[in-house]
Order: sequence, then C-alpha cells, then structure tokens
Amino acid sequence: MSRIVYVNGRFVPEPEARVSVFDRGFLFADGVYEVSSVLDRGLVDNAAHLARLERSLGELGMASPASPEEIVRAQKELIARNDLDEGVVYLQITRGPADRDFAYPAEPEPTLVMFTQEKPLVDNPLAAHGIAVVTVPDLRWKRRDVKTVGLLAASMAKQAALDAGAGDAWMVEDGFVTEGSSNNAYIVTGGGVVVTRHLGNEILHGITRAAVLRLSREHRIAVEERAFTVEEAKSATEALITSASSFVIPVVRIDGETIGDGRPGAITRRLREIYIESARASVDR
Ligand code: PMP
Repeated sequence: MSRIVYVNGRFVPEPEARVSVFDRGFLFADGVYEVSSVLDRGLVDNAAHLARLERSLGELGMASPASPEEIVRAQKELIARNDLDEGVVYLQITRGPADRDFAYPAEPEPTLVMFTQEKPLVDNPLAAHGIAVVTVPDLRWKRRDVKTVGLLAASMAKQAALDAGAGDAWMVEDGFVTEGSSNNAYIVTGGGVVVTRHLGNEILHGITRAAVLRLSREHRIAVEERAFTVEEAKSATEALITSASSFVIPVVRIDGETIGDGRPGAITRRLREIYIESARASVDR
C-alpha cells in the first residue's frame, strides 16, 4: 500500500507518517476524530463533520492546529493525491506530545493526522442482504457525544459480534439500545414510524443520523426520537443502522431473532436510496 498521509501540515508516504510515543493520543486516548465519506471524489456532509469536530474539541478544552478551511483544503488534497474516488477520509486531532502526566500540558502542540481509505460505499454488499446484530452491555464512558479515539469498548463489542457470527453489536444500557458499535441504531414500527434514540450524552450525534431524519421528514416518513428496548426491536418490522462509512444498512436479525421477513425492509431500502441520492447531489469537491 502506498498511501500519502497527512501529518501536521505535511503530505508524506505512509511509512514516513509517524507521531511521538509521548503523544497523548497514544498514552491517554486524549484525542478526537472524524470520518467523512467520499463519493464521486467529493466529500459528503463534511461541514457537519467539521462542526462536530469543533464541538468535540471544545468539550475537551483542546485547540485545533488548523482552521476548518485549512482542514478542508488538506482533505481535498489528500483525496487528489491518493486518487480516491469512493471511500473515507479519516481525521484525528490529539492534544499532542508531552511528558506523561494526567494533567493537560500548559502549552500543548496538538497533532493532526489524516488518511484515506478506499471502500465501496454505494455497492456495499451488506446493503443487499442486511446484517445480523447481537446485543451487548454498553461498557463505554458517559460522554459518548464526544467523538474521542477511546474506542476500546466499541472495539470489544464489535469483536464479540464477529465472534458470535454477527455483523455488529447493539449496545444496551438500562434495557434500552443506545447505538451500534460505530453507528446509530433504528427500528421501524408496525405503523411505519422510524424510531431512533433521542440525542444526549449517551450516544454519538451521528451526522448521517441527522441527514436521514431530515430526509425522512422531507419524504413524509414519520420519525420518533426516543429510546427503544431490545424486546421492542425484536418485534419491529424493520431495523437499520446509519454511519458515514456505511450510509444506511438493513439489520435483519437481532440476537438470532428474525426481523420482519428476514429481508431488508421497504422503508430501510427507501432511506438508503434517498440518502445516497442526496449525498451524490451535494458532495464538496
Ligand atoms: N455512533 C457511534 C458510536 C459511532 O462511532 C459512529 C460513527 N463514527 C456513529 C454513531 C455514526 O456517526 P456518523 O453518522 O457521524 O458517522
């Protein structure tokens, strides 16, 4: 693989892309990130991703080493240099290197890295048949609205799902589904209402979630933002997940129980279609 990677203002070949072992991202997971998808060589919903990045940084009292305009310019250059047609641009900002100490450094020099990943997003094979999910306890910290790189609990949930032969895990707290390991979780009720958990500190405020809810309302698909239990999910007519790197993916089994007729539901397929249509029409090149 010969990617060009962005590290602190420089575009370097992958083997030369390095940060310090003293970087607080490495020592404390003291960093935040964003993943913007790339369709037809353009960025999808990128302004919203950068707005959430600003918020995450603000919640952690962390400064950005680059303005949003500089970040967008670097993202676009990275897409061009890597000849990326479809996939994602990953971006991470950490509080930077400092001698190990729990307290924040007085004069931080934040680290900014970005890289691209090629991925078929529109022709995602999982979209055709859907995925199975298993439920697991939500072991994460209490500020899931902040998009930090502290992803071990999410990674454990994902691995538990794969070990169980499923595609992903839905995390559960106090009997209610919070979200997927790296996506927002939804069900569709018998009455055709799309239900996804309300915003709060318990979930990441998904950029794809916001777009899908807006598009649903525009297309007169009823939406309810509220918590739902695992039991309600298992008896739903449809289930689905959303994220920047998967758009909308049907969920056809939960803990081994079939959802609807076991095939991607009509509303889910419609949401994927209108999301892709809208994303295509608004990419930023
Ligand atoms: N929840 C979690 C825990 C996530 O990691 C992600 C994706 N990073 C999402 C939801 C989806 O967010 P977005 O639509 O902004 O990708």
